[in-house]
Amino acid sequence: MTQVAVIGGGPAGLSAALFTAKNGLETTVFDTDESWLHKAHLFNYLGIRSISGDEFLAVARGQVEDRGADVRTDEEVSAVESTDDGFRVGTETDEYDVQYVVFATGADASLASDLGCELTEAETVDVDLSMETSVENAYATGALVRDQEWEAIISAGDGGAAALDILSKEKGEKFHDFDTPENVPLLNG
Ligand SMILES: Cc1cc2nc3c(=O)[nH]c(=O)nc-3n(C[C@H](O)[C@H](O)[C@H](O)COP(=O)(O)OP(=O)(O)OC[C@H]3O[C@@H](n4cnc5c(N)ncnc54)[C@H](O)[C@@H]3O)c2cc1C
Repeated sequence: MTQVAVIGGGPAGLSAALFTAKNGLETTVFDTDESWLHKAHLFNYLGIRSISGDEFLAVARGQVEDRGADVRTDEEVSAVESTDDGFRVGTETDEYDVQYVVFATGADASLASDLGCELTEAETVDVDLSMETSVENAYATGALVRDQEWEAIISAGDGGAAALDILSKEKGEKFHDFDTPENVPLLNG
């Protein structure tokens, strides 16, 4: 069973999926491949001097898949509903029962709102510092939670924060995804 469903494969969703998949949670990313990054060129993503949005997405998807996530770029999520032990994610072709859902759908808050997540006055999804919404175990990240303050690196940070909170719940203690130089031979492919 997929433990974590990430809805949206821009920087927010891919970042969340990277952390959860890398740390052993069964993770599926559902995406319609319409990230704003397809229109962008990044000069302001710290650590990368210059990269096209297309190339950034291709590298990020590959990185996430390398760590074991199932990234589906042709499966649109049409509904998310609460169940007794999590959520049911519906697409055009199937339904998936999951424990955690991470909304990363750009500025479109409709799926999160339909689930019952509270919105702010600015019509963004209301979240805490760990990006958890008013619905337990449902997270919202990226452009979805920010009133116009839209930057790729902020979305990626949001995704990481959501994933760390999920991982802390699963591990039963505050979790850090810290690697050191000794890990490189193990993790480099
Ligand atoms: C012209 C332009 C230039 C920009 N330039 C820069 C820049 O220079 N630097 C910078 O940092 N930022 C830039 N940005 C902003 C940047 O693109 C966004 O901040 C960033 O892409 C937001 O990331 P996100 O993951 O929150 O959402 P997005 O990247 O928009 O990703 C959302 C994803 O969710 C998917 N999705 C939506 N609904 C569903 C659904 N129901 N089921 C499945 N998938 C779904 C979409 O297809 C999309 O792939 C630019 C934006 C634009 C438009």
